[in-house]
Amino acid sequence: MLQDRLRTLLHKYNVAGPRYTSYPTVPAWTESVGVADYRRSLKTLGGGERLSLYFHLPFCEKLCHFCGCMRVITADHNRSRPYVDTLLRELDATVAELPEGVREVSQVHFGGGTPNFLQPEELTDILNRIRSHFQVIPEAEIAIEMHPRTSTPAFCENLATLGFNRISLGVQDFDPKVQELINRHQTHAMTVEMVAMLRRLGFDSFNFDLIYGLPGQSIAGWEKTLAQTLALRPNRLAVYSYAHVPWKSPVQRSFKDSDLPSPGMKLELFQRAYETFTKNGYRAIGMDHFALEEDELSRALDQGGIHRNFMGYSTQAEAHQLGFGVSAISYVGGNYFQNLKELPDYENSIRSEGLASFRGYLLDRDDAIRRDLITRIMCRGSVEWPAFDAQWDLNHGEYFRENLPALEGFVADDLLESDAAGLRVKGEGFLFLRNIAMAFDRHLEGIRDQATTPTFSSSWSPGSPGSSISSVFSSTTRNSRAKPRCAPPTR
Ligand code: SF4
Repeated sequence: MLQDRLRTLLHKYNVAGPRYTSYPTVPAWTESVGVADYRRSLKTLGGGERLSLYFHLPFCEKLCHFCGCMRVITADHNRSRPYVDTLLRELDATVAELPEGVREVSQVHFGGGTPNFLQPEELTDILNRIRSHFQVIPEAEIAIEMHPRTSTPAFCENLATLGFNRISLGVQDFDPKVQELINRHQTHAMTVEMVAMLRRLGFDSFNFDLIYGLPGQSIAGWEKTLAQTLALRPNRLAVYSYAHVPWKSPVQRSFKDSDLPSPGMKLELFQRAYETFTKNGYRAIGMDHFALEEDELSRALDQGGIHRNFMGYSTQAEAHQLGFGVSAISYVGGNYFQNLKELPDYENSIRSEGLASFRGYLLDRDDAIRRDLITRIMCRGSVEWPAFDAQWDLNHGEYFRENLPALEGFVADDLLESDAAGLRVKGEGFLFLRNIAMAFDRHLEGIRDQATTPTFSSSWSPGSPGSSISSVFSSTTRNSRAKPRCAPPTR
């Protein structure tokens, strides 16, 4: 029985671990890495290398009670203009460090917070500045995360004018009872209307975020949300596990523990989502993402063309990621950097230095090898050992001698094939990619030993205290993409 097998596997592999939007993961990063290292990394880029730009827009009108993201709650829309000016200053300062030949951009992503908090002309200013500095290639993905309740027709029309081609909507759950408890009121009708308007404007690529494990969720209410989601037919879906981390996000104390679904029900909620979507034209794309079978992400899965960064899965070839804004993360020249996480600190740093990196990680050769391996597992579910060994000039059997035995359980559960030719994840094994990747994570034990509070979300976190909403670590969170459309600062 597929249902019973899936349930057994979800229970068995429900262990705390990272989501691997980066490797090494954020808890391994250090504050000894900062602006000077970021400048050096920017200067190392070579002509022809492509860029992915991420902008973190932190403002939200109302605080959702489940939120674990870096956000600033305010009803004052005058606050966004100075922030946009700071972003533009950071953009100019970053470009000044880049070698002249490095100007091609293949991805632009606006996350938050609520990016549609901005006035249309403020977004226009950012896009204009991007286009004045860079060459955005014709096939670039230009995406924005939006909150249906606060989107206006003028904002949506401007998106079409500016060349946006992917919309990500934070839905979470359509059930009014759940929305009341999480203080996020957006009726089903509101979302339907917004999607219809965007489709009339020519948008044909939508991602919805749903969250399971929220307070007040019931099987019946969740099934209705799933049916309403199916009816809107988004191209892609992310179904995130709610991360209950009240010691990090005190607002989560707004509801009682008894409002939360039991671990068993949480598992059931995910299972219903998995079965509903995979039986209705969607493919599971690793862990908690789904894409229509005809979507390019599904096709890329077969062709080994899926990539992964702090914004989630993408078909865009891996590019250096430049993050702008408070708490934004960059991956440049093989190293990670994160901007200051408090708005005044970030703004002061941009004013004084032009850049605002306050921590990061400079990868050594072993980190780079393991990052490549973990990326292949997370994106393709496969590794071809002869090619891998040739690329890194090593013998995988010797190099990963201490790691490979940890794969035996996955092989025994028929989730993975492992032989001299490579590793190949099978069937439901795609739900456990992070568990498989953890076998190769050199930093995992050290991070767990140092943690005084839970650091990682459970891979299948029924009732777990860790975060999975954004990245992996409750300490950096969400950005999210593994997030409920919050930004990558925490993903
Ligand atoms: S969940 Fe998203 S919209 Fe809600 S407060 Fe957090 S960042 Fe803002």
